Amino acid sequence: MSSHTNQTNGALDERSVPPMGMTGQAFLDAAGSVVNDIERYYTSLPSRPVLPSILPGYLQKLLPSAPPTHGEPWADIESDIERTIMPGITHWQSPKYMAFFAASSTYPGILGEMWSAALTSANFNWICSPAVTELETIVLDWLAQILALPDLFLSKGEGGGVIQGSASEAVVTVMVAARERYIRRHLERKGVTDSDEIEDQSCELRGNLVAFASAEAHSSTKKGAIIAGTRFRSIPVHRSNGYALTGKQVRAKIEELQARGLHPYYLGVTLGTTNTCAVDDFESIAEVAKDYPDIWIHCDAAYTGSALVLPEYQYLSKQMTLVDSFNMNMHKWLLTNFDASCLYVRKRKHLTDALSITPTYLKNQFTDSGLVTDYRDWQIPLGRRFRSLKIWFVLRTWGVEGLKRHIRHHLKLADLFVELVKSRSDIFRLLTPPKFALTVLTIKPRDGKPLELAEVIKGDPRPFQDQQIPIDPETDDQELQKANDITKEVYTKLDETKEFFLTASVVGGVYTIRVVAVNPLAEEKYIRRVFELLVEITERVLERPDETQV
Ligand code: PLP
Repeated sequence: MSSHTNQTNGALDERSVPPMGMTGQAFLDAAGSVVNDIERYYTSLPSRPVLPSILPGYLQKLLPSAPPTHGEPWADIESDIERTIMPGITHWQSPKYMAFFAASSTYPGILGEMWSAALTSANFNWICSPAVTELETIVLDWLAQILALPDLFLSKGEGGGVIQGSASEAVVTVMVAARERYIRRHLERKGVTDSDEIEDQSCELRGNLVAFASAEAHSSTKKGAIIAGTRFRSIPVHRSNGYALTGKQVRAKIEELQARGLHPYYLGVTLGTTNTCAVDDFESIAEVAKDYPDIWIHCDAAYTGSALVLPEYQYLSKQMTLVDSFNMNMHKWLLTNFDASCLYVRKRKHLTDALSITPTYLKNQFTDSGLVTDYRDWQIPLGRRFRSLKIWFVLRTWGVEGLKRHIRHHLKLADLFVELVKSRSDIFRLLTPPKFALTVLTIKPRDGKPLELAEVIKGDPRPFQDQQIPIDPETDDQELQKANDITKEVYTKLDETKEFFLTASVVGGVYTIRVVAVNPLAEEKYIRRVFELLVEITERVLERPDETQV
């Protein structure tokens, strides 16, 4: 008989493991030990290689191929974290992690996750746990104020916010709402009222609906269109325009689609694209949008939305009067553990019209009264986690001032990095002006032409970095190919060191290296070190005789 055997709950109880997996005292000991290990882990991060050194399938070799027959003591389970899991971890919280965008973690965020786990419930209706729904509404209203979003996104009006698992989930959710709104309006205008006819014509129309966005929009827009069963078209954008989508391009695409008998129903605009943090031209798009009120506009601000805590970026928040929905991920740059993707809609009715189905077992007096929010109707799944707790803990720990300083810290680190890159303009080129702490650079081949930035327009109220536009040096194909090969080689060599983790990307045919150091532990010394390493590797690569000249 196992040492866990439960002898106190009566003869019926033959469970060999205590109901909660361990006794209260054992939990206190285990949790204390885990919290200690987590703190030690965070302290040790700078000295750990940021990337793992294992091969695919490594874990299968360390773990048994069959599950345990009998329960194991916690001490054995705990020790396997360091032995088996750590070797396969990419340390996203390391100050040397400068890849993709960050996935923030903080101690208040972790504590929020602990309480959320402790209070586990499915939370689909208000009555499932009123505090879960009400706290979510409150913290999302707070966040909307912090980001200076237009009042129309606050819950006191017709709009409101909801926490989703990811920006991709937010996109597909609003795309379904957009699709249903478009179809409903279209059929109403045609005067279709018979329910079978509505269903038949809806299905027919669905295949001709088109979601569209800039070619630099995140792939989640295309994926959302696939899931929503509609078409997707992208619009090419160019370096000479900072990779921003313009109203003129939007109008041309709508006219082209309509001329082919298709129905554009969803436009994705981006505040901070993944490759270069480009910001679409919301003002000119807003002008065009006035002529097409049936097209749903969603703003994807997954990463860059966090920068709206700063007053100097809030001119962008004001421009969000353009959109039907807006989304940003607190779990990227705003100190909250994954997952905390905050979606705002201008009219919550459009979500609930598309997603509300109430079988008898979900009916209750509170829902029927219409006085409460049932977030199940604002999302795809039924059940949902208590995610607002960690947001609440984070907002209270930092306060608005603390959040501003947090974002400014990273912007300053990025400014430093850019200055360092510019100091070696003999070997590096900036592909775009640095934006929102993201720097995108390429290696300049020997005798290559520099990439210049256009002059700042005097009196422009926008932050300095937003005013500059890169001037294309008319690189010929041969030079571009050479630059791409060298940049790729430098990136690969840097990656092999495993000291830093950066991402490479291809933007408009140009192979680039992205550097974005925005996790909470980012520090100046690591910025200086990654620059030093880039210089060392680049000089080594450039010193090699040029084989194409032999
Ligand atoms: N949108 C943008 C601009 C992104 O950069 C990303 C991911 O980095 C996403 C959407 C997708 O985010 P998620 O993983 O939350 O779906």
